[in-house]
Amino acid sequence: MRASPAVPSIMAQESSQVSRSARPPSNLEREESQLWRLLLLFMVLLAAGFAALAWERLENLPYHLGALAVGTLVLSVLFAVYAYGRRREVSELKTLLHGLQEHVGAAPSEAQLDQLSQMIQRSQRSFKELIDSFEDAACAVSLDGTIRTVNKRVAEMVGLPYTAIVGHDVYEFIAEPTRSGVETGLGRFLERKHWAGTVRVVLKNNARPLYFDCVLNGIVKSDEVVGVSVLGRDVTEQREKELRFTELFETLQEGVYFSTPNGNLLDANPALVGLLGYEKKEELLSLDAGDLNFDPGQQPVLGRASGDRGAVRTREIKLKRKNGTPALFLDSSRAVWDVSGNVIRYQGTLVDITDKRKMERELLQQEEFRRRLLESFPDLILVIDLGEHYTFVSSRVRDLLGYQPEDLLRKKISDLEDHSPELASLYHDVASSRQIFASAEYGARHRDRSWRTMRASASQLFDAESKLSGVIISVRDITVEKKLEEQIVQSERLAAMGQMIGGVAHELNNPLTSILGVSELLQDAQTSEAARKQLVMLQQQARRAAEIVHNLTYFSRPPAPGKTRVNLAEIVERTLNLHAYSLRKNNITVDFLREPTVPLVEADPHQLMQVFLNLVLNAEQAIREARDRGTLRIRLGCTGDSVWASFHDDGPGIAGESLPNIFDPFYTTKRPGRGTGLGLSICKAVMKEHDGSVEAANAPGGGAVFTVRLRAAAKYTQPGR
Ligand code: ADP
Repeated sequence: MRASPAVPSIMAQESSQVSRSARPPSNLEREESQLWRLLLLFMVLLAAGFAALAWERLENLPYHLGALAVGTLVLSVLFAVYAYGRRREVSELKTLLHGLQEHVGAAPSEAQLDQLSQMIQRSQRSFKELIDSFEDAACAVSLDGTIRTVNKRVAEMVGLPYTAIVGHDVYEFIAEPTRSGVETGLGRFLERKHWAGTVRVVLKNNARPLYFDCVLNGIVKSDEVVGVSVLGRDVTEQREKELRFTELFETLQEGVYFSTPNGNLLDANPALVGLLGYEKKEELLSLDAGDLNFDPGQQPVLGRASGDRGAVRTREIKLKRKNGTPALFLDSSRAVWDVSGNVIRYQGTLVDITDKRKMERELLQQEEFRRRLLESFPDLILVIDLGEHYTFVSSRVRDLLGYQPEDLLRKKISDLEDHSPELASLYHDVASSRQIFASAEYGARHRDRSWRTMRASASQLFDAESKLSGVIISVRDITVEKKLEEQIVQSERLAAMGQMIGGVAHELNNPLTSILGVSELLQDAQTSEAARKQLVMLQQQARRAAEIVHNLTYFSRPPAPGKTRVNLAEIVERTLNLHAYSLRKNNITVDFLREPTVPLVEADPHQLMQVFLNLVLNAEQAIREARDRGTLRIRLGCTGDSVWASFHDDGPGIAGESLPNIFDPFYTTKRPGRGTGLGLSICKAVMKEHDGSVEAANAPGGGAVFTVRLRAAAKYTQPGR
């Protein structure tokens, strides 16, 4: 009778078993308790009868009163016989129904249903009330379709009193099964006198189809079937559930399966058949558990280990498609147990997550790519949400500001001790949409307390719904860039000054030459000793002035395009001459000693003069800071093939923490306006250009020593002056 697949019907059967066991035979109970009450009444009447009989003055009673006691006794006995008979019928029925309920896992046996059917036949005679107590529908119909008897359940369904049903044609009340349909199968029934199965019934008063599990027995009179007794259990609800299950099973997009405990497929829905690449379900069901397992490491793929209790389990499994490719599924399954608690099968759903996992992997790769991109990006990337919290901080923050990303993450901008107000206002401008994109330069405090110059560019960040979700800022450390800019400005200024000095010196040269020439001429023409002496002095001073002017032009002349062989001693002396006035004024004695033979070096004399001048200037400033007079010891010598010059002052020396930084551009410990921090960095650059070096140290006896080293020019040596 059932057209639905085997397994959903199993499930529907289970649910019907539950509903059957939950249905108490309430009418029977009522009947039984009524009998008990009748029995009690009988006992009371019997007792009254006996009491009356035993009454000692019975003899004296008038005849008709004596007959009353005997009559009561006789009535009681008749009543007892009736009550006993009823009670037997009721308990017979009760045992039968109880027996039906007991067999929760199985359908009622043929014998039990036959017994019921016989009772219905008997009910035509005397058990009408009893069959009324059935929850199931019962009726007897003659072969021509006339209804002979029905129980209360049938009357309720039809919605009419017995009198309006009994004696009427059955097809007045039912649209289905049709008369022709029934007559087709009548021949076979008359042969067997028995039929059992599910019948679809459509009543005329209700279009909803009803389903009954029916047992039909022939009513036989003198060996001839004259009618049919029908006992039908309403299984409509179960059947509807079954249909719903079937529909769900067939149409669900997720795979649904039923498997044996060791993982062999019992049934699979069309979705699963398709997901595994099969055309026919039978093809899939014929496979062994192992054939489906893509990775033999998983044991067993759809079943479970023997010790498993069968509780709900969700996990990822890899199944083999028909074409051999793997398919990743999310398997949620649980066991179905029999009445004794043994696992009889597993049922579960399989959701294909192959694409989902692939997408997740791709997303992960993209995420990794994004992370690495940000890590390798020279700029620091910050994301600040609309609540002013840092939601992303790239790891560049370690290099740029000495912090860990976690030190900033989830903190508010204003909560950070050293936050930059310029950065905060940049954020507010962009977050409030006053500007869509903005940039600013600002000073940021490094964790080591030093200041860095930063350039930040901020733009708006939107979420998936295109709603503004925060501000993304890229920050670049431009400290060096900025200093280099300043350095260029400074050197441009120095170059301009050099040009000016050159011009002045050139202008002074002519008058000085005239003074020298005229004073010499005058000396020859002068006869007075005193006047000659004055003229000699004039000439000496004019010579000195000429030498200063000469040195100035030497210093300010643009660097020679190539290097020449130069005598370091001569360069040192020229530098000292140029700076002689200042040294004298500041009471600084210069003690210059050189080894007798110092090789020539290949160098640009102007640049070397600049190096020495810086060293002399620094020494002078250092001494002046500490005292009002001092000594600068200059030594010149050679070691191996290198020529060196050392400048040792008796100033305070270099502070320990400054020593590693003094050659950095713009590093200065001098008061603002006094030092640029460029002198030593230029020295270093020049010496590097010459393949030489300049080093600084503190002398053991006090003061700083700067040593310049250069490679001696090949083959050339020239005694020092
Ligand atoms: P500036 O002289 O403009 O500061 P420099 O690069 O010439 O720039 O020098 C850098 C720093 O080196 C000075 O600020 C000073 O602290 C230190 N320094 C240089 N020469 C001496 C010296 N002879 N004695 C002590 N400190 C010195």
